[in-house]
Amino acid sequence: MQGDTSISVQYLKSVGPKRAESFAKIGIKTIRDLLYYFPYKHLDRTTILSSSKIIQHVINGYTGEVTIIGEVIDKELVRYGKKQIFKVTFKDKFGFYECVWFQGIKYFKDLFNTGEFYAISAKPVITRYGNLQFVHPDFDRFGKNETDEFLNTGKIIPFYSLPKELRERNLGDLSLRKIIHYAVENYSGSLEESLPDYIIKEKNLLDIKQTIKNIHFPQNHEALLQAKNRLKFEEMFYFECLTALRKSFIKNTIKGIPFQIRAEPIKKLLNKLPFKLTKDQLNALTDIRKDLESQKPMNRLLQGDVGSGKTIVALISMLIAKYNGYQSVLMVPTEILADQHYKKITALLSGLDTRVVLLIGGQSKSERAKTLEEIKSGKAEIIIGTHALIEENVAYHKLGLVIIDEQHRFGVVQRAQLIEKGFTPNVLVMTATPIPRTLTMTLYGDLDISFINQMPSDRKPVKTYLRSEKKLPEVYNFIKTKAREGCQTFLVYPLIEESEKVDLKAAETYFNELKETYLSEVRVCLIHGRMNWKEKEEIMYKFASKEYDVLVSTTVIEVGIDIPEANIIVINDAFRFGLSQLHQLRGRVGRGKAQAYCILITKNELAVESPQFNFNFEYMSHAQIEKNKSIIRLNAMVKYSSGFDLAEIDLRLRGPGEIFGTKQSGMPELKYTNIIEDADIITEARKTAFDLVASDSKLQHEKNSLIKKNLIANYSSQFKFSRIG
Ligand code: ADP
Ligand code: MG
Repeated sequence: MQGDTSISVQYLKSVGPKRAESFAKIGIKTIRDLLYYFPYKHLDRTTILSSSKIIQHVINGYTGEVTIIGEVIDKELVRYGKKQIFKVTFKDKFGFYECVWFQGIKYFKDLFNTGEFYAISAKPVITRYGNLQFVHPDFDRFGKNETDEFLNTGKIIPFYSLPKELRERNLGDLSLRKIIHYAVENYSGSLEESLPDYIIKEKNLLDIKQTIKNIHFPQNHEALLQAKNRLKFEEMFYFECLTALRKSFIKNTIKGIPFQIRAEPIKKLLNKLPFKLTKDQLNALTDIRKDLESQKPMNRLLQGDVGSGKTIVALISMLIAKYNGYQSVLMVPTEILADQHYKKITALLSGLDTRVVLLIGGQSKSERAKTLEEIKSGKAEIIIGTHALIEENVAYHKLGLVIIDEQHRFGVVQRAQLIEKGFTPNVLVMTATPIPRTLTMTLYGDLDISFINQMPSDRKPVKTYLRSEKKLPEVYNFIKTKAREGCQTFLVYPLIEESEKVDLKAAETYFNELKETYLSEVRVCLIHGRMNWKEKEEIMYKFASKEYDVLVSTTVIEVGIDIPEANIIVINDAFRFGLSQLHQLRGRVGRGKAQAYCILITKNELAVESPQFNFNFEYMSHAQIEKNKSIIRLNAMVKYSSGFDLAEIDLRLRGPGEIFGTKQSGMPELKYTNIIEDADIITEARKTAFDLVASDSKLQHEKNSLIKKNLIANYSSQFKFSRIG
């Protein structure tokens, strides 16, 4: 007989009311809650080695990571001159070994107690005194008693995080493990299934009872893996159901505006271009044309690496809207970029009888009032600006197309805002953020996608170098020499938000110094975030018209700026930037025919260019990756020019949440699923969900009632733009 899981944990063996209170503080009220308190990791007993085995391995030249369990017999702080080392000595059945810490001593010294057992994982070394040693290892505590039944009987041991609320009640790793073990044995059998039986059967998944058992106390690796996979599938399945419902709602309920395509104005525009569109640009346009001609609103993502030529695709789409009597909005992240688009587009459209307007914060009141009036009356046909264009109360005459440039965060919420305003606009989101396919699917699950994979054929990859600060004089010489040939340079300094003033001062100081010294023979200008809009615009304009050779800047130039003659970018303190930022910055050059250069300047010790650098993360421990992140990033920039390669590395280094700001993007935190590693499961879950919604778009079938119930119970806040039932 299995017990009711909805009762309080206090009724579990060794819990009681006091401990139940502590559990409640960390969100565990019922036995069910406790069953869903999953281990953060497992330790496989079968891979643990003894000290004597490890020594043999080291002698035989093995350099990989190992795991060993032993008891602390001594700990001490050792002084070496000015430096301190924290050393813990352990023993196992066969001998002694030590772990040492050079950093974070204050923290680590309280984590080890004599008489307690620990599992240590790290690369072993043998010191010159012949001791087996581990430097800054990963470790897990077992508690006082190694005769712990799980250590001896269970092959795979779960580790649970033990927050202070529990520790305060004298709950240790061992006692928590025992309580959970008891709960699993006596209660997991009555857990309610959370996926329909037919899906469990079809997909060959574990049922929930078995899943919970195996996630805590698996008999072997296979069992653990199956449990994890079932949880991942379930997580992605419900997520994809929501996406599918939303997509089906938008497609089927909201009526679009079917456009007609007139060829002459497009031809006229194409004839003015100094180049031919690439095949990928043409394909993207075909996709867009089909969307625009249909009864359904367009909802498309255009993904193309930095410099692949997305703007022209946007422009042609806007021209189509205009010739159907509709207004278009082009929304960009910065005012500089808005202004640049405005100028270029105005120039390209001259003679095509199209009214283009710019709406940004820095404009004068009267200018703004006039623009707003034109937007309202319908005189303005192409409207370019920042986010304010949909967030503020701008009144449109007939808005037919919204294009969002360089904005991967524009998501469900913003689109919803538009729909709320009563628009049924066609939406095109353009991004250079090269997202691996599974992530695109997840993040933009309800968008159709077009790719521009191919760069215009006249492009050469940017040559990228890593240089230490010592080499700066040579770099300045290079800039000077190139300036004589007519090349322009961006000289970028990072900006740290906390001390904007100090940074600005730094950029200003460098600027003044360089003008007097290394760069006295060339024309240097400065742009920074604290300038007002007019000042920035003027500098950009002058730089673009070649009145200057070098533009010193904080990162205001990061996104989208297109000055094809500028073909050198020098990024100072490059280690401070993230990979996608570095890639965006580098994308400012190499936009024309000439060979372009990107020089990454960094502290001397980070300037290790290693062409053989191994990006094979499987062979690196977590700690190694952490330690070498900067070097990995910088070397990745030297080695790879494609945004896709860099994005994969970036995802490995940072995890998807951090990159895409999950909160803003409308993507839920994924608890179990890893967007890269679990691509197959995601694809499978997505297909299952989309097929299901295609055949039962309101979840009315009896066999789907459980899905409906769970969606309503757990995700109702996200239903605004989906309809079920
Ligand atoms: P992004 O995709 O980064 O927004 P842009 O649209 O700004 O790129 O285009 C980058 C540069 O390439 C611009 O100077 C643009 O005029 C030019 N360009 C666009 N398409 C082509 C093409 N098919 N052949 C050559 N140059 C092109
Ligand atoms: Mg662009």
